[in-house]
Amino acid sequence: MHNHLIEFKNVSKTFDTTEALSNINLYVDENEFLTLLGPSGCGKSTLLRLIAGFESPTDGQLLFEGQDLSSIPPHKRKVNTVFQKYALFPHLNVYDNIAFGMKIQKKSKKEIEYEVGRVLELVNLKGFDRRSVDSLSGGQQQRIAIARAIVNKPHVLLLDEPLAALDLKLRKDMQIELKNMQKELGVTFIYVTHDQEEALSMSDTIVVLNEGKIQQIGAPCDIYNEPRNAFVADFIGESNIIDGVMLENYKASFSGHTFQCLDKGFAEGEPVDVVVRPEDVDIVPEGEGMLCGNVTQVTFMGVHNEIIVDIGGFKWMIQTTDSVNVGERIGISLDPDAIHIMKKSEYSGMFGDYSSYSNELDELSDPGRDE
Ligand code: ATP
Repeated sequence: MHNHLIEFKNVSKTFDTTEALSNINLYVDENEFLTLLGPSGCGKSTLLRLIAGFESPTDGQLLFEGQDLSSIPPHKRKVNTVFQKYALFPHLNVYDNIAFGMKIQKKSKKEIEYEVGRVLELVNLKGFDRRSVDSLSGGQQQRIAIARAIVNKPHVLLLDEPLAALDLKLRKDMQIELKNMQKELGVTFIYVTHDQEEALSMSDTIVVLNEGKIQQIGAPCDIYNEPRNAFVADFIGESNIIDGVMLENYKASFSGHTFQCLDKGFAEGEPVDVVVRPEDVDIVPEGEGMLCGNVTQVTFMGVHNEIIVDIGGFKWMIQTTDSVNVGERIGISLDPDAIHIMKKSEYSGMFGDYSSYSNELDELSDPGRDE
């Protein structure tokens, strides 16, 4: 029988009155790059800490290679953790920082030298052995922390927001490096982030969490193209989420118009949430539009313009390379594959209207959290 590398079976974790994780069912396979994604406080770090053994489940079972982990102490687990705040030893140089664990394990000098050289090459810091840790940039220090974690050849590497303290450019470079490293090493990565772009670009599998519950598990493109509910649609990328009704298979009505779509299997007349991504909306002359509205805001974003359009009181976001002006009246057209239908959920009506969008711009320019 095929065993998953790690398996959560109905796992819950409660702290006093807070249910940090609620009935988690999840598996992780060998060599997978799995990302836990969600807003602050959703339970991602708790999930990682359960695997590392720093916390134990209140309920349910956690398996590693088919065996119950509950009686295995943290230091006996075949996992290694990289934290956002990389605790390097400031009084040791790069070499000794990386060699620390191997020295404790009484490995031979020759082996240690070989392994430290190998991982320094992997993190692109060959020749940095004798440098003091203080003389390195934040990005270099983070790479040393990663080198230190992988030098012991862990089966699984747990990474808790390892790039959050870095600036945007460095973060992007490190994302690519980490992904390449993971492929090269053949190590299973379980990666925690609240940054959806990071999750989309790096992962084989994304687990979206909110309030301790799994919202969706899937490949990045599935999560983006087929969000299961309004929370996922809103959290992953930008989404217009409109109240609609499924008239029959492949036919949905919203904003006072009937649209062809690719979805089926809903009851006739079933109320649904309709997702339209901002890049999937075509702008046409007013008279030719399926819907029309007033442009209330235009923001130049470099490659495209991001515009807000008031359509019957609901504010849509549209990304376009066309030039339009504030106050202009435009028509919009939607191809069937631009429309994605979701079941109503507890998140219906909470997201997807861009009326208060200008407030969100501040958050978008945040280079990372500093807590
Ligand atoms: P962040 O991105 O802010 O770190 P997170 O998604 O990692 O958030 P967790 O740290 O897993 O979230 O926390 C989930 C919930 O459990 C939160 O409500 C948090 O306050 C609570 N919690 C976590 N650890 C403890 C603890 N040791 N004692 C009490 N409550 C805790």
